[in-house]
Amino acid sequence: MTTDKKETAASDFIRAIIAKDLRNNKNNGRVVTRFPPEPNGFLHIGHAKSICLNFGIARENPGGVCHLRFDDTNPSKEEDAYVQAIQNDVKWLGFDWGDKLFYASNYFNQLYEYAVKLINMGKAYICSLSAEEIRQYRGTLTEPGKDSPYRNRSIEENLDLFSRMRAGEFAEGSHILRAKIDMSSGNLNMRDPAIYRILKVSHHRTGDKWCIYPMYDFAHCLSDSIENITHSLCTLEFEDHRPLYDWFLDVLKVHHPQQIEFARLNLDYTVMSKRKLMQLVDGGYVKGWDDPRMLTISGLRRRGYTPTAIRNFCRTIGIAKRENRIDMTVLENSIRDDLNVLAKRVMGVLKPLKIIIENYPEDQEEMLEVANHPKNPEMGSRMVPFCREIYVEHDDFMEEPPKKFFRLGPGREVRLRSAYFITCTRVIKDDNGLVVELRCTYDPASKGGSSPDGRKVKGTMHWVSARHGVRAEINLYDRLFTVENPESDKDKDFKEFLNPGSLVTLKDCIVEPSAAAINPGQQVQFERQGYFCLDSTSKQDNIIFNRIVTLRDTWTKIRKKQGVKQ
Ligand code: ATP
Ligand code: MG
Repeated sequence: MTTDKKETAASDFIRAIIAKDLRNNKNNGRVVTRFPPEPNGFLHIGHAKSICLNFGIARENPGGVCHLRFDDTNPSKEEDAYVQAIQNDVKWLGFDWGDKLFYASNYFNQLYEYAVKLINMGKAYICSLSAEEIRQYRGTLTEPGKDSPYRNRSIEENLDLFSRMRAGEFAEGSHILRAKIDMSSGNLNMRDPAIYRILKVSHHRTGDKWCIYPMYDFAHCLSDSIENITHSLCTLEFEDHRPLYDWFLDVLKVHHPQQIEFARLNLDYTVMSKRKLMQLVDGGYVKGWDDPRMLTISGLRRRGYTPTAIRNFCRTIGIAKRENRIDMTVLENSIRDDLNVLAKRVMGVLKPLKIIIENYPEDQEEMLEVANHPKNPEMGSRMVPFCREIYVEHDDFMEEPPKKFFRLGPGREVRLRSAYFITCTRVIKDDNGLVVELRCTYDPASKGGSSPDGRKVKGTMHWVSARHGVRAEINLYDRLFTVENPESDKDKDFKEFLNPGSLVTLKDCIVEPSAAAINPGQQVQFERQGYFCLDSTSKQDNIIFNRIVTLRDTWTKIRKKQGVKQ
């Protein structure tokens, strides 16, 4: 069963452009997109937006293709482990690049040739200013830059220096290759940008073959061109780089993909750059890239999100031309919607309170049939053991219940889901006056939880047999940050806003036996408590569940109470 929602050609402005291009037979009716991650960290939910867009468009159009290309031009930050993790995440999200797996590093020879060509055309030169001097010469947004004193080096000298840079004769930072464009351009990217720099670093794929590496802006647009990409979709911050890409492609007279920019995903209560996520991992603020609180794809997977929910989320937020922020509730609702349909209902008690049903025979046990889904009989039912001793949720009992509390209290009768009506007859406390146990009686005529004589009870509670229940550890997650935008205060480090209560682990939970028998990664709904997923590290003698999300959105309510505008 799938709950995937569908895209149409008119879903967003990018799909509309592509549909028009196809109608006009532009690119001979081909649609070739790409997803180009830099392998310097794990993918996050923002990347999912780009993946769904690029792979989605390829899938929707007959003959469409999407390449997975690693933009691996910065060897000091990149690792093969990230390459593997990224592939794993893209596949898990449900997308397939077929045989179109590429690396910018595959093109290092070609890119070098392009650079030599620019030098030969008098369009690039070796600059020997220091990094600091280059910054000073660049000017500002309001002041034009100054020409480098090395700008007019001869083509021969440039060719000689460039080949010696490649041969490893010079130290890092002593020379760079720059495009010769316009130091007075209003666009800083056009002020003779760097094309190649010396980096004496081994590359995870090319080893020590190179000690000069192309800059991202040079490698990116030309890799798109080499791969015959038709539509190069990128986030808005690259709008200002487009004139530079146009310049490279036009001067070199090579295939010119159409670049279209869209707004990146910004999500409340989280940070979204690999660099910042890495700080959380390296600083031990979270337990690894796949910590269920991280909005990485691997974190969401471990938390129990489904690929369908993430794809539907990306579809819901759409593709816009303007920057915006998305409320976390939108993401949470996407997993609620998916699991509401798919997740089997089971019973688990997070904070157990023991009940002894005094009129239920000591040596009796019975199996009661409980539906697996309230609305979908096709999901069947299961047999759940019941006996004289059960656990209910501590929060479902109050000694002096207020008016609107319909659950258990002294002398009150409630329904145990699919079991019996019980009435609380006695409250047992410890030396500190804390309630530790309840004594109840049950009505044998209410088997299955139906009223024997039309009398009504207001509350229905979940329960687990104390003799048969299985002990489990449950992780309850809250948002990782306490403020909507942890990056908005430029004077403060985003880590100052980490939520100290983002993880609460309950050690003594009791779940029904069928819940403990599910597979790691599988999701269930613990009735009334939310959706949970058996953690990947869970073992038979140490069962661990992660709460994916509560059943309802409690945050919006809390924020409304605090007077925060929605
Ligand atoms: P980060 O800052 O997290 O490292 P990035 O853009 O530098 O992000 P890349 O690996 O270069 O990371 O990104 C691969 C692709 O994913 C790019 O095409 C980029 O535009 C896209 N992408 C990255 N972050 C987002 C986001 N928040 N929303 C939409 N697309 C994104
Ligand atoms: Mg990047």
